[in-house]
Amino acid sequence: MSDRHILTAVAWPYANGPRHIGHVSGFGVPSDVFSRYHRMVGDRVLMVSGTDEHGTPITVAADAEGVSPREIADRNNRVIIGDLQSLGLSYDLFTRTTTGNHAAISQEIFLGLLKNGYVFPRTTLGAISPSTGRTLPDRYIEGTCPICGYDGARGDQCDNCGNQLDPVDLINPRSRINGETPKFVEEEHYFLDLPAFTRSLGDWLDSRKGWRPNVLNFAKNLLTDLKPRSYTRDIDWGVPVPLEGWRDRPDKRIYVWFDAVVGYLSASIEWARRSGDDDAWRQWWQTPDASAYYFMGKDNIVFHAEIWPAQLLGYNGEGDKGGTPGSLGRLNLPTEVVSSEFLTMEGRKFSSSRQVVIYVRDFLARYDADALRYFIAAAGPESQDTDFTWAEFLRRNNDELVAGWGNLVNRTVSMAAKNVGAVPTPGELTDADRALLDATSGAFGPVGELLSRNRQKAAAAEAMRVVGEANKYLSDQAPWKLKEDPARRDTVLHTALQAVSDCNALLTPFLPHSAQKVHELLGGTGVWSPAPRIEEVTDLDDGSPYPIITGDHSGGQAVWASRPLPSGTPLSPPTPVFKKLDESIVEEELRRLEGEE
Ligand SMILES: [Zn+2]
Repeated sequence: MSDRHILTAVAWPYANGPRHIGHVSGFGVPSDVFSRYHRMVGDRVLMVSGTDEHGTPITVAADAEGVSPREIADRNNRVIIGDLQSLGLSYDLFTRTTTGNHAAISQEIFLGLLKNGYVFPRTTLGAISPSTGRTLPDRYIEGTCPICGYDGARGDQCDNCGNQLDPVDLINPRSRINGETPKFVEEEHYFLDLPAFTRSLGDWLDSRKGWRPNVLNFAKNLLTDLKPRSYTRDIDWGVPVPLEGWRDRPDKRIYVWFDAVVGYLSASIEWARRSGDDDAWRQWWQTPDASAYYFMGKDNIVFHAEIWPAQLLGYNGEGDKGGTPGSLGRLNLPTEVVSSEFLTMEGRKFSSSRQVVIYVRDFLARYDADALRYFIAAAGPESQDTDFTWAEFLRRNNDELVAGWGNLVNRTVSMAAKNVGAVPTPGELTDADRALLDATSGAFGPVGELLSRNRQKAAAAEAMRVVGEANKYLSDQAPWKLKEDPARRDTVLHTALQAVSDCNALLTPFLPHSAQKVHELLGGTGVWSPAPRIEEVTDLDDGSPYPIITGDHSGGQAVWASRPLPSGTPLSPPTPVFKKLDESIVEEELRRLEGEE
């Protein structure tokens, strides 16, 4: 057993709508496979995230519906929580950015940066309405994007090209409220002094080992063009700026991205406060041998490999200008930014607005969570853009899960149940028996090594290769032909059952739901692979109610090792572990995709 502390920091899904399978292939399944593996090894994992609920898109949605931003956030937070729990993602805490705790920690990071001189005020041009004289929030200004020429760009970002904008950059800016041309007046904003991290961020990136090369190269490239970035925005929905004269202003907030990344820290602190030991988070954030892995899609690399490390360096007083740590003490930087590439859908980019999409909840209404988890782990966009096709999903499910792994479990358990009614007692082992057991027990080393480096595709392939060896052993030994030699038959069945038990442990990080089932088919009782649960809680500071995902994730019996299966354990005839899918689902799903366009 080890007692390394590993923080699994999972990207925060934005609460402007339900998440699709492209989203969960980037941040969701890979982070859960990683966390489950490390818990099986005996590491102390803290897996945190939550919904990212501030920023313009939520206020725009609220305006469109005539409700408050909080109502939009509440609704989508609940939908997203349901989806992620159904997928079996084992968060120690999945919370949200609208908690009192998160606001306080976001403000603390801002003040620490300010104290060390990494956040500074600068006079910029802000928009006011000429007819009312009031500040016009960024989202109420639209015009032509200076980068791509799109005419419906908003003051803070262009939805067409995705670039962050300043209202003053827009060509032909106009108020979305009454169409008038805004007047730009001088006003103060705070900026994060990114150029003051050129050397310290560079040194940190140079010291990183084992990152996916594209992620590291992308991050290093960012250093060639560091500019100060606005830490505050003209918006009324977000974390207030904790300064005299600013705190109570309704129109100035901390920029949504700069509070969202603080969520990894604030969620760890909320988890500790809920655990009854307010300082428990420090073991993951402040001990030198703790490590922190950040999981996301590649569109978020900037904020995890540049902005958040800069915020941490500045807070610690470790930027190029030095300084001293803030009141929380020195905070650890990411060990690795584990970024996935993009998943496309039948050759097209996922798009909720164009309906090229399948939402997680619709997927899970028709198919099992483990079938989706397996596709993402075995065939997902780990290191290159990857296309999701229904034909490939069907093939992976039917050939690999049903005919490969499920069939091995089913044949083995049903023969032992029928002939012996229990795990048989083995006689002397032959070379073939020993070879199989060596292969299955020997796979924990290499598969674990791949999982610890987040080479999950290769790890899944290696585990399934061992499943193939066990299937071949069963066909070669043909225990069903050994009616006249029950002693040898029992030895073969015992060997095969032991192989099933080993393979089940190897596949548990990928397939936690079916691993629990296989554990029970092998006569096991109790929890093998813990499932996350949704809990209704109240805000620790303001008492408002909200749901979280949590669970007793280190309380399962699954460990990363071969464990002898006790002879004599009673076995019952098995039910199928996986569902075979009819070929007709491919056409049905394609029709659904076309029909919704
Ligand atoms: Zn644009």
